[in-house]
Amino acid sequence: MKLLTDQVVLITGASRGIGKAIAERCIAEGAKVAFTYLSSDEKAKALEDELSQGGGEVKGFKSNAADFDAAQELVKSVMDVFGTIDVLVNNAGITRDNLLMRMTEEMWDEVINTNLKSAFNLTKAVQRPMLKARKGSIINMSSVVGVSGNAGQANYAASKAGMIGFTKSVAQELGSRNIRCNAIAPGFIETEMTEQLDEKVVQEWRNSIPLKRGGKPEDVANAVVYLGSDLSNYVTGQTLQVCGGMLT
Ligand code: NDP
Repeated sequence: MKLLTDQVVLITGASRGIGKAIAERCIAEGAKVAFTYLSSDEKAKALEDELSQGGGEVKGFKSNAADFDAAQELVKSVMDVFGTIDVLVNNAGITRDNLLMRMTEEMWDEVINTNLKSAFNLTKAVQRPMLKARKGSIINMSSVVGVSGNAGQANYAASKAGMIGFTKSVAQELGSRNIRCNAIAPGFIETEMTEQLDEKVVQEWRNSIPLKRGGKPEDVANAVVYLGSDLSNYVTGQTLQVCGGMLT
């Protein structure tokens, strides 16, 4: 038995990286997938083709997660196509790193709006259908940096720490309606982005991790399957660190 059979999963930011792996993994577990992206039209189309050719029900939506009205519109469109939303994965995220001294107001606002406000926007929008269905699982993609902080990432760390507080509050508000809300805090996940980095630097990172390797997007996707499925029926308000023991 697959773990997400016929569950409708809405994932923000799935044209590449971790979100893409989540979409692939959810389809493999029998889910129907709605995903969003901001500007990667070709990658989104390629993912739609890849997953539907394998027999999956999938649709990509171009939608800015940082825009409140766009999130409302998006959920309306997803409901029109799929009829329900069982799992929401607030995955879309960006970095605009710099030391506080050099961080502009724009860099702060962009990161807070894309990473944190987006979770508010989407959660508000799915709340009504989930309340009606008396069931739901909301998963917020935080980061170990949201737990530990990180020099040069004050905006990003604040957004990811904010997601943890948001997660706990939503879990407390909606638990009585059988809607769960959890966060995932990935550590160093090797994606296209990290492929650009100096191999020596990356190897040093790997060596500092107890499991002696960077995470794979699939490692995070597996945690999403757990938190989105009935396997985690009695788990809410938690932050699951998927970091190879980097932050213990
Ligand atoms: P990527 O940069 O590879 O992908 C980001 C995705 O988010 C893309 O699909 C992008 O769409 C989408 N996106 C960006 N802004 C918006 C927006 N405003 N509205 C809708 N979609 C948007 O990121 P990762 O896969 O590396 O990271 C995914 C999540 O995991 C993020 O929240 C990140 O903070 C978190 N994370 C990542 C870690 C890592 O090591 N990689 C570690 C810890 C946490 P498009 O392609 O159109 O731009």
